[in-house]
Amino acid sequence: MPTFPFTEADPIQYPGPPPNASEVVIVGGGIIGVTTALFLAARNIPVTLLEKGRVAAEQSSRNWGWIRKQGRDADELPIVIEASRLWRQLAEECGEDIGLNQTGVTYLANADKDMAKFEEFMRIAAIHELDTRLLDADETAKLISGMSRRFKGAMTTPSDMRAEPWLAVPALARLAVRKGARIVENCAARTLELSAGRVKGVWTEAGYIGASTVLVAGGAWSSLFLRRHGVAIPQLSVRVTTAATEPMPEVYSGAAADDHIAFRRRQDGGYTLAAGGSHLLYLGPDAFRHATQYLPALRDNPFGTRYFPFAPSGYPDGWSTPRDWAPDSASPFERMRVLNPASEPAKLRSIERNFKQLFPRFETVRLKAGWGGMIDAMPDVVPVVDRVQAVGGLFVATGMSGHGFGIGPGIGRVVSDMIQGNETGHDLSRFRLSRFYDGSPVRLGPAL
Ligand SMILES: Cc1cc2nc3c(=O)[nH]c(=O)nc-3n(C[C@H](O)[C@H](O)[C@H](O)COP(=O)(O)OP(=O)(O)OC[C@H]3O[C@@H](n4cnc5c(N)ncnc54)[C@H](O)[C@@H]3O)c2cc1C
Repeated sequence: MPTFPFTEADPIQYPGPPPNASEVVIVGGGIIGVTTALFLAARNIPVTLLEKGRVAAEQSSRNWGWIRKQGRDADELPIVIEASRLWRQLAEECGEDIGLNQTGVTYLANADKDMAKFEEFMRIAAIHELDTRLLDADETAKLISGMSRRFKGAMTTPSDMRAEPWLAVPALARLAVRKGARIVENCAARTLELSAGRVKGVWTEAGYIGASTVLVAGGAWSSLFLRRHGVAIPQLSVRVTTAATEPMPEVYSGAAADDHIAFRRRQDGGYTLAAGGSHLLYLGPDAFRHATQYLPALRDNPFGTRYFPFAPSGYPDGWSTPRDWAPDSASPFERMRVLNPASEPAKLRSIERNFKQLFPRFETVRLKAGWGGMIDAMPDVVPVVDRVQAVGGLFVATGMSGHGFGIGPGIGRVVSDMIQGNETGHDLSRFRLSRFYDGSPVRLGPAL
């Protein structure tokens, strides 16, 4: 197992070379690209997945590992319900322990207004017959032992799950390869080759691949890749700091959060911790370009975002990051194999402090790791999953907005059917690309 977080120093598992042609090319080896490749390969469709760095080295291994239906946007729910079933099936098929456990997800309420918000979700939960329920203060204290604070109550969904992202996504990639997908790491897709308004292939740093269908599932890099071809998506990314404790006694076997602290039991007996609700946005040209589309999110949570005026060099929205390049010259993608932001030391300290304040009995437990991750977000906090109307054969599945791990296999299945021209079985109109340009008001999904 490579060290974590994965970096470009980790050994390449899929060296290539890429083929000269493939029916489908997928740009991006995160959970979305990997599961789409898996479902296409299962239907014997020749598919090649290109990953500029290492499979799952960006968001798909750095995330908290929550697989939740609870608190989801109403239009995402049917897909995440399917995803929960697929997680079980794929975990079996993998034949590896990916840490999948049905241990529940719980949101803790500090105030009546939190409980009122939970009530709103209860109406959606009832439509889908979820096992979500509200708890009073005593029931909450019983569910999570040893908390120093008494909460107003909680909302909990016992059927929600957890998995270890850094085990799960590489295992799913191995399964995809066993089913016939081709994966090439250390291989950036530089540009598309277009002819008469259609995709003809992809230029990579290792040569040209002829392909009639391309899926862009590049996480935080999708907007940069697509913009060069005249496809604009208002995607930004924010930095989040996460920490892991060493093994400690269990206080709750699932995942829980309030406004201050989020914690999730891990397979190794530790907890993965993060601060509730605050992230850092590095300002670059796209942040200004798309500012008006993000105003509703900003108004909804004015203090949730902190700002840093300069996106670091080489980042997707860096001031000096090139927006145009030739197919035969190095692109920004291969210049940054793995987007590996540092964790914020002050955040790590506050995460540790908040966790220990909530569980004073564990004053001596130490953090064993901390890492940063860039979450790719859309203005309405729901993804783009669509066929690009202006370019035949081009598909996009990105902007998972901080909750793409849990829903990942569901999106992968949906996109694989979309590519094959099959019915997807879900209403995807909420996730259409044109919503940002057809005069539709921004309809905010639930915040992270
Ligand atoms: C700290 C943190 C906590 C989170 N917690 C949760 C959680 O608990 N539950 C949940 O459901 N979600 C969570 N998320 C969100 C979840 O991790 C993401 O939504 C999901 O992993 C996105 O998957 P993806 O495949 O779209 O993108 P990514 O995992 O980012 O993968 C995209 C890949 O594309 C590659 N790529 C980009 N451009 C190119 C190119 N031109 N050529 C080749 N390769 C390219 C990149 O190198 C990258 O590996 C969290 C995210 C973070 C950062």
